[in-house]
Amino acid sequence: MSKESSLPGLYAHPEFREVGNLSAKKFVVITGGVISGIGKGIFAASTARILKDSGVRVNTLKIDPYLNVDAGTMNPNQHGEVFVTDDGYEADLDLGHYERFLGQNMTRANNLTAGQVYWSVVRKEREGRFLGATVQMVPHVTEEIKSKIRSIDADVGIIEIGGTVGDIEGEIFLEAVRELSLELGRENFVFIHVTFVPYLKTTNEFKTKPTQQSIQLLRRIGIQPDFLVVRSESPMDVDSLDKVALFGGVPRNRVINLPDTSNVYEIPEQLYRLGLHRSMAKMLRIDLVDNGLKWEYPKAVKPVRIALVGKYLGTDDAYKSIFESLILAGVEKPVVIDAEHIEELERDEDVRMYLSNWDGLIVPGGFGKRGIEGKIRVIKAAREERIPILGICLGMQLMVIEFARHMAGLEKANSTEFDPNTPHPVIDMMEQQKKVLNLGGTMRLGAQKMEILPGSRLAKIYGDQREVYERHRHRYEVNYEGYKELFCKPGEEDRDKLVISAMSEFVEAVEIPDHPFFVGVQYHPEYRSKVGAPHPLFIALADAAERKGSR
Ligand code: GLN
Repeated sequence: MSKESSLPGLYAHPEFREVGNLSAKKFVVITGGVISGIGKGIFAASTARILKDSGVRVNTLKIDPYLNVDAGTMNPNQHGEVFVTDDGYEADLDLGHYERFLGQNMTRANNLTAGQVYWSVVRKEREGRFLGATVQMVPHVTEEIKSKIRSIDADVGIIEIGGTVGDIEGEIFLEAVRELSLELGRENFVFIHVTFVPYLKTTNEFKTKPTQQSIQLLRRIGIQPDFLVVRSESPMDVDSLDKVALFGGVPRNRVINLPDTSNVYEIPEQLYRLGLHRSMAKMLRIDLVDNGLKWEYPKAVKPVRIALVGKYLGTDDAYKSIFESLILAGVEKPVVIDAEHIEELERDEDVRMYLSNWDGLIVPGGFGKRGIEGKIRVIKAAREERIPILGICLGMQLMVIEFARHMAGLEKANSTEFDPNTPHPVIDMMEQQKKVLNLGGTMRLGAQKMEILPGSRLAKIYGDQREVYERHRHRYEVNYEGYKELFCKPGEEDRDKLVISAMSEFVEAVEIPDHPFFVGVQYHPEYRSKVGAPHPLFIALADAAERKGSR
């Protein structure tokens, strides 16, 4: 997408540049069949990684056939988390997989939605750029899609098409890749179709029919897959796989069965062992360097129990990057506890009892009033009971509200997001935000520079780095000018004040020094974790939780 047609964040990262004319020459296109949610994103990320470790310059493009311009306005309860990139793009969570698996930062150039495509085509039509033509799905919309795919900055572009074959919205994207594969030469394309084979307990057999039918759908569009990746709950028998190969018209050695695994970080190793990178390279006629896979993730887990105090309980994906950050820091997947349930508990004593099951807590980001009083109760208990706690974005804002209410006696302290008439707006809308009318892509978004104040716990966690960029996504901020007396700087420690540990033009982090771990950050550290390099805040929380657990 060109600059003017995009909806950039208000404060784009200063180092961000649009991708130039460099373009990929070869492509791996990943489609899905039967059902969604079978790990196509993980597979795409793993495929990219095994090629990257074999010396190939890869990049990824996630295509989302929905009409939203980006994922920013979608409800995390249905769609999972919104992943924010350095350049302030609000993306589908698959970009998070790509970043973590590839160890490479994504930008808005790595995602294309139908909303963007149509927006751009319609804008061009208004500008009179189609020279009197009737503007049509083919060739105008397909050309818009193809030009985006061509512009992927890499030697091999990995394209993941969201949804499943047969979805109405997805068809135009499949048509575009089909056309492009003819234009650039079919030999420059590898098509991989990822499907699911259910197991029927009553008759004790794998059922391959849905997979056969989804391959037929793909062929009808004019795409013959080169590889079939068959997901299943348990390992499939040879006969069923032979059948899939036969009906799919794919050589048996290019049918890969990937049964469920409890650890998705094993997938790149599995694919590498199967030699998928070599088979793809052979088809694409590219050379590989045989370096082995440089892939490290925690094999043993620390015996700590972490709970995340959430309010988007519709899907585990709502807090995806936080989960993965903890797993990559060597901690078991956290338990999500319901903030609204905590509101219902009668006495503070009950909250303390309830929380005694966990060694560490996370209060994550979120929007709107629902559940926030429950989260505030958790923060109060964690502060008083000395339970390690990390507040992220909304979580940090609630830490400030809790402190103002219970330590500074500002009983009705609140954020104007939840109570516009609060007498003590300790969290308030940023001045710049008051003029904003549209809700899409208009928050304070993406990488922002801050200064970490020396002498703080945060400074230790960051290994004494002073200037750091972290990713943001919020409209409200700490009302420092209005409530300076609530805060102090590291070193001036006063038990009745919250220590500010990072600043920009806003308060970016707070902490309580006399506590095993009480840290709140206005940014989202979870977006920066990579395989082999989890964000240090999660390691620090896990360590503090481990110390508590062993007491
Ligand atoms: N709702 C809060 C704000 O807009 C926090 C946002 C978040 O947690 N990402 O500032």
